[in-house]
Amino acid sequence: MKFDIVTIFPKMVEAPLAEGIVGRAIVGGLLDVKVHDLRDFTTDRHRVVDDMPFGGGPGMVMKPEPFFRAVESITAGRGRPSAIVLTSPDGARLTHGVAQRLRDAGHVAILCGRYEGVDERVRAHLATEEISIGDYVLSGGELPALVIVDAVARLVPGVVGDEQSVARDTFARGLLDFPQYTRPADFQGLTVPPVLLSGHHGDIERWRRREALARTLERRPELLEKADLDVQDRAILNELLDEREKENKHDCG
Ligand code: SAH
Repeated sequence: MKFDIVTIFPKMVEAPLAEGIVGRAIVGGLLDVKVHDLRDFTTDRHRVVDDMPFGGGPGMVMKPEPFFRAVESITAGRGRPSAIVLTSPDGARLTHGVAQRLRDAGHVAILCGRYEGVDERVRAHLATEEISIGDYVLSGGELPALVIVDAVARLVPGVVGDEQSVARDTFARGLLDFPQYTRPADFQGLTVPPVLLSGHHGDIERWRRREALARTLERRPELLEKADLDVQDRAILNELLDEREKENKHDCG
């Protein structure tokens, strides 16, 4: 899996990429991440990447040429990226599904904006898509680029040591994760659900499924519409809904 990140602050992304799961995957050759300094693709002596907005108004806008030249250079050196992502608060929201699609793309370039944003021609004629990591405005696309790389990298086989743990993660099955506990079994009187200590794998599996369904129903019911549920899941879900109805009646009566 290849990533190319284009930014005016290479150091801001290089340091986090060296740590943890992503850092290990880069060393191990599963991920090939290259960070490009946008200023290397300017042609003037002062390496200027921004200019005043046409039509006036506050702030500066990032010029189109350096981004176009950066992508040309990436294409010449490493092949044309299958996805060219512009980070943008008004882009499509990053989800598990988007991360899967980018993983399948195999070679992703990520363009990081700064200032008031990027010249519209970069969006319209260079980027193949625009991605937002949430409804808030950050000062640059560097943190979003790291979020995208991390989320996509986890889906590349071998990057997370335990494949099963990725398949079981929140959203992978369309459900939220079940509650996790570790030692001690009794922490200042706060105990662990006894089933987890029972050693009975069937019971533990059922408990976890039920908890995942219950949590999803409570916090993100809309996910259940698209979730990958089998007959047993549906039975548990019906039980949970019945219980809920009884509680509601109880509250009203
Ligand atoms: N004036 C713009 C905000 C620019 S923020 C507006 O109102 O929409 C500067 C840069 O930070 C953006 O070009 C983008 O690259 C990045 N950025 C900010 N918030 C982001 C978010 N939520 N998701 C992805 N990128 C974001």
